[in-house]
Amino acid sequence: MWTCPYCGGTHGLPFHDSQLDGILCMEPDCGRFVDRNWDPDDLSEWDDTDL
Ligand SMILES: [Zn+2]
Repeated sequence: MWTCPYCGGTHGLPFHDSQLDGILCMEPDCGRFVDRNWDPDDLSEWDDTDL
């Protein structure tokens, strides 16, 4: 489940165009755009080796 890093909400809408790729937070008090590359845990380092 996606969780907004700004407000902790779980209502996100995937959004991407030619320049942006990420999730748009649907919480009424937040509404921020979260880039797909934004990874608070940075798990991608070891995920690559599992492929
Ligand atoms: Zn949010």
